[in-house]
Amino acid sequence: MILVYTEYNNGQFSKKSLEALSYAKALSDKVVALAINAGDTTDLQTYGAEKILTVTSDKLTHFSVKNYVALLLQVAQKEQVTTILLPSSANTRYLAPVLAVKWGGAYLSNISSLPKDGKVQKVVFSSKAIAWVSLQAKQVITLAGNATEIKQAPVQAVVEAFTPELSEDNIKEVGTEKFTNKVSIEEASIVVSGGRGMQTPDNWHLVEDLADALGAATACTKPVSDMGWRPHSEHIGQTGKPLSCDLYIALGVSGAIQHIAGVNASKVKVVINSDPEAPFFKAADYGIVGDLFEIVPRLTEKIKQLHS
Ligand SMILES: Cc1cc2nc3c(=O)[nH]c(=O)nc-3n(C[C@H](O)[C@H](O)[C@H](O)COP(=O)(O)OP(=O)(O)OC[C@H]3O[C@@H](n4cnc5c(N)ncnc54)[C@H](O)[C@@H]3O)c2cc1C
Repeated sequence: MILVYTEYNNGQFSKKSLEALSYAKALSDKVVALAINAGDTTDLQTYGAEKILTVTSDKLTHFSVKNYVALLLQVAQKEQVTTILLPSSANTRYLAPVLAVKWGGAYLSNISSLPKDGKVQKVVFSSKAIAWVSLQAKQVITLAGNATEIKQAPVQAVVEAFTPELSEDNIKEVGTEKFTNKVSIEEASIVVSGGRGMQTPDNWHLVEDLADALGAATACTKPVSDMGWRPHSEHIGQTGKPLSCDLYIALGVSGAIQHIAGVNASKVKVVINSDPEAPFFKAADYGIVGDLFEIVPRLTEKIKQLHS
């Protein structure tokens, strides 16, 4: 039995959660999905969960490793699962390794392929290499982005409410960050990001206009969010949000290894940079060498014309 941990944001299950379900379905027909403080769970059965456990608790409103691990351990024991599968997300990066240790299972992180002869591919060394690792009898698996296609596999699911034993949620809200993205980075199929090459936050309208024209989310590099030019929720890369969108456009981003490590799973990468030696060009599918302040307004205008 495989347990799939799902994430529910803004009234829907994340695409990566549905991808995790499709992956689980390719491993086994016995898939139980865990839905935390979620609304309608129909999507989970559309994508193949034969059992859906719903958990509703104020103690799970804020993500905390302690309570989320406690919940998953209780569900794993109740359902007698042998594999716990988690989608790629900012939270599961913290959750999965602790869960594996407490549960006593192997930890297979960043898995990027379906099994072949009992082995799966794992992205290693900041996406510089691929390793083959063997599936284990008891394991926690986290997926890299785009590990498999999202496929519908409708079943008639048993839906059951589960009440876990959890400690008080002792997370204090110390501040809130205004969510500026019209489209969320996690769900976007197109993401436009800006780096230090944008020069000042006042120039961000160029990123936003291009993103608006494409229906894309906006993102940024770590120094940009560290300097307070953009909110931390937009920081992508190894230590920020992982990206695995269809099209990623980077403006004035050098392509440091820590940045590329977090965005490399994106299908098509386009880089606009004035320095022909910028490392990002080596990882890019398409590159434009030039001044972004000249190129981006023209590109945005052209895209708007195409859409009008
Ligand atoms: C432990 C650790 C973790 C890290 N994690 C992350 C992470 O998760 N994500 C991340 O992004 N970084 C991360 N970093 C930082 C990373 O090493 C780089 O410093 C950072 O990615 C560089 O950001 P940048 O590309 O915005 O800036 P820069 O490296 O300064 O690049 C700016 C680019 O803009 C170009 N440019 C300038 N003007 C123009 C113009 N007019 N038109 C076009 N191009 C122009 C320049 O040629 C240059 O290539 C991490 C670093 C460490 C040590």
